[in-house]
Amino acid sequence: MWEGMFKRNGAGNGGAEQAAGPIIELHQVVKEYRGKANTVTALKGIDLQVGAGEFVVVLGKSGAGKTTLVNLISGIDRPTSGEIRVAGAAVHALNEDGRAAWRGRSVGVVFQFFQLLPTLTVIQNVMLPMDFAHRYSLREQKERAMRLLNQVGIAEHARKLPSAMSGGQQQRIAIARALACDPPVLLADEPTGSLDSATANDVFAVFEELARQGKTILMATHDRDMLKRVKRAIFLADGEIIKGETR
Ligand code: ADP
Repeated sequence: MWEGMFKRNGAGNGGAEQAAGPIIELHQVVKEYRGKANTVTALKGIDLQVGAGEFVVVLGKSGAGKTTLVNLISGIDRPTSGEIRVAGAAVHALNEDGRAAWRGRSVGVVFQFFQLLPTLTVIQNVMLPMDFAHRYSLREQKERAMRLLNQVGIAEHARKLPSAMSGGQQQRIAIARALACDPPVLLADEPTGSLDSATANDVFAVFEELARQGKTILMATHDRDMLKRVKRAIFLADGEIIKGETR
């Protein structure tokens, strides 16, 4: 099925999202982790373009380089060499402060283990990025956080602590937090990896709805079931893109 899609989609590419140019663009991206004893080359010259509004799944086994890829695109980490442009910024050229400020505006990140702050309530977790970015008045932050929690279906739990919530609910909080500053790009690293399959399906559906609303989404996963739900998948193995891409 995928081979067929490669051919069909590779033949002519007139997708509307392509007209605006890529919102994520990687050119010859290399990432080495240098240890005392040895150096691991986690990414070996990645070229990638993602158009605005695309939903792309990055598939690969453990150790393939998926987390590294997400961390470089989000500016959490820096490439050893190569260029990364996301939402108009040359991320590879920004210093740490510049990357943090850019990330606050331009990308939302969702992790496998939610990374919520346990001492803050659900709504406070969602308000935090707005506070960091000095976006919106306090009242607007609250209104916006409630709107986002409503969007992901957990508004009634706003005043609870994350620990009172299930895994699926905690991931919904994390998605609402990632959307806090209305970034055009959402990055997710195994966002369904610690959820049972029914909950994983529901959480995946939240991402699908966000894609329909125009967010650009890049999601790393090792779950091949996700393949049939997206138009485009990229296969990573040993730090390289191993198969053609689908569109
Ligand atoms: P995946 O997310 O697909 O499991 P990773 O990006 O986590 O892959 O890892 C890719 C490779 O880089 C693996 O060989 C891993 O051991 C190595 N690696 C990842 N992070 C580090 C690090 N901080 N230091 C050294 N090696 C690392």
